[in-house]
Amino acid sequence: MRATLMYSAGDVRIENVPDARLIEPTDALVKVTRAAICGSDLWPYNAMEHDETGRGMGHEAIGVVEAIGADVRTMNVGDVVVMPFAYSDGSCAFWPRGAPHFVRPGGFFGTGMSDVGGAQAEAVRVPQADGTLVVLPVGEDDALMPSLLTLSDVMGTGHHAAVAANVGPGKTVAVVGDGAVGLCAVIAARRLGAEQIIILGRHADRIALAREFDATDVVSERGEEAVERVRELTGSFGVHSVLECVGHGQSTETAISIARPGGAVGRVGVPQEESIPASQPAFFNNVTVSGGPAPVRAYIEELLPDVLEGRIEPGRVFDRVVGLDGVPDGYRAMNERKAIKVMVQP
Ligand SMILES: [Zn+2]
Repeated sequence: MRATLMYSAGDVRIENVPDARLIEPTDALVKVTRAAICGSDLWPYNAMEHDETGRGMGHEAIGVVEAIGADVRTMNVGDVVVMPFAYSDGSCAFWPRGAPHFVRPGGFFGTGMSDVGGAQAEAVRVPQADGTLVVLPVGEDDALMPSLLTLSDVMGTGHHAAVAANVGPGKTVAVVGDGAVGLCAVIAARRLGAEQIIILGRHADRIALAREFDATDVVSERGEEAVERVRELTGSFGVHSVLECVGHGQSTETAISIARPGGAVGRVGVPQEESIPASQPAFFNNVTVSGGPAPVRAYIEELLPDVLEGRIEPGRVFDRVVGLDGVPDGYRAMNERKAIKVMVQP
């Protein structure tokens, strides 16, 4: 089958690899009908050391079940399924709200760290299929596919930022970052009843979409100036909830600095540094700093009805569609900020 392999920074190739296949009785084999390139794929795209064998890329997908292992109970061959970016058996003793994925066995797709391949491919082996996949009540070419695909990562991740930052009715919210996750975080904040939603970003196309998703204010400054602007917009207090959707030291520092006393920061941008900045403002303002990888599988059940009934349209973050051959160009376009998010139709 054909799949996307990354060999080093900037070196993405489409190659023939051994067919994905069932290995464990709890596996499903999924023919990928839609996949996506993620902002987090751009971290290795900019920094990966050379890897002889190449890393199978992609962790967001929708597909059709082609085969199931003997122990799989909740799906049948032919079902259309959405695949969260992490696999798990669905039981997690560590998460009180029942949102799994740090369970063992479990792991992430498209990291090159296991015998699980990537989803930017013709097919993918899904371990722990019952705990991982969600069967969708639609056909494989349904018009809702772009929005359904965001449930595998970016919409669930934006929602997680909002949950971690305690967004609720009447709250003031700031979203740091105007990538696909930041845009979904705007949707999530609105959905949870936020009154004011300030987006911090500087790309005209992304800001325009954020406005359509109901962002009320835009701050395009950075650093200290951004902090000043947010204070001006919030009666000098800062916001109740900050949704940090970038992961850089500077964006995290800004995020903590614009939270009002007693406010909260929900971090979903993968941190690129070892330590969290702005420790003293966080301490003296009693700011809660929370967040992490989103338990996307658990959120699918909450978000799916809103997608199916058209109340939210996170699929609008996709502004380019490519076949597998177009994947290397898709990485380039996202890296150069010429595309917000790229959908792949293998
Ligand atoms: Zn992703």
